[in-house]
Amino acid sequence: MKGKGITRKDFLRIMGLGVTGLFCPLGSADAFPFSNNRNRKNCKDIKGHIFKGDAPSRPWKWSMEGFHYSSDGRTVQCHVCPNRCVLEPGDRSVCRSKVNIGGKLYSLAYGNPCAVHVDPIEKKPLNHFLPSSTIFSIATTGCNFRCLNCQNWEISQRRPEDVKFTELFPPDVVREAKRWKTPSIAYTYSEAITFYEYMYDTAKIAHENGLRNVLVSNGYINRTPLIKLARYLDGANINLKSFSDRIYRCLNGGRLYHVLNTFKTLKEQGVWFEMTTLVVPTWVDDPDMIKRMCGWILKELGPDHPLHFLRFFPHYKLTRLPPTPVRTLERFRDIAMKEGIHYVYIGNVPGHEGTHTYCHNCGKILIQRLGYTIGELNIVNGRCRFCKTPIPGIWE
Ligand code: SF4
Repeated sequence: MKGKGITRKDFLRIMGLGVTGLFCPLGSADAFPFSNNRNRKNCKDIKGHIFKGDAPSRPWKWSMEGFHYSSDGRTVQCHVCPNRCVLEPGDRSVCRSKVNIGGKLYSLAYGNPCAVHVDPIEKKPLNHFLPSSTIFSIATTGCNFRCLNCQNWEISQRRPEDVKFTELFPPDVVREAKRWKTPSIAYTYSEAITFYEYMYDTAKIAHENGLRNVLVSNGYINRTPLIKLARYLDGANINLKSFSDRIYRCLNGGRLYHVLNTFKTLKEQGVWFEMTTLVVPTWVDDPDMIKRMCGWILKELGPDHPLHFLRFFPHYKLTRLPPTPVRTLERFRDIAMKEGIHYVYIGNVPGHEGTHTYCHNCGKILIQRLGYTIGELNIVNGRCRFCKTPIPGIWE
């Protein structure tokens, strides 16, 4: 009946589901948009594995001996991330970037980025770091996770030899960043920890040339390499993908406590960081979990590190899920702010009021955003223009 009530199609649109949500085959957990992660109790661990015998016979031009590894002369172990890959001669690592050649560990991802862009800093996302500046952004292939929802799987789940790349060794990256007049360089897109050697050498030269460095990462790195890298880091956006070890194992292929340790180490080392949680329907949509997560953040990191709740769109192995309903993001933002986190953002919803920065003291708009474009900017010398409260972040 026209004009009365809502149609079935309208109902689905309002609920943010789309028509396809109803036609998923029964029996697949991804088919039930209303279920939450309590239904994931028996999910499977998706940890990555070593690729036996997949190493080239010799290093190539874009190789560098690994920075943090041990060797008994035959077998090597990488200590960069918690996977701690043990490689026999001829093996390739979980992240696909490292190989054992003749009892030595080599990175095959050094000077061969497959993605090179100049981005707005807001895209990382970093909302409290040189707003409206641009950032020279690079990535090689490789990732130490296996996220079912990966947005960059075409490069994160590939070997360095399998993609087109540009030759840019560390001094070249710095030279290009200066040529493009970007004040910072980002190690981003795939997983920067898997091209640690390339990132570290570039970051060091960048600092020597007055540029800043930003890490965008899943945070799956061991303490020693992180502390070494932190000397040259000025900012970071680290994913806090959920607050459940089970979800980390089944959705991402990692363990939660290693990521939590990374946040604590960055805090201890004085690196500015922001946190990002992608709100994946049926996986990361439990308000109680978000409340526990915020409690941990407040206790261990304090209220001043911004938290971004990003809207999920169907990708990779989760194409049957709907986009995150905006009301779920709003609810999580409310929870986080009521818990006491000062700066909580909604991402991937252009024009939403939750994308702006509000002074945590007087509540006035400090930075107005429309997508990646900045409107009003009311931070002066790191303080709110209206009430003069210091605003946490890197502003100059
Ligand atoms: S960085 Fe790569 S090679 Fe090293 S432990 Fe992690 S997954 Fe393995």
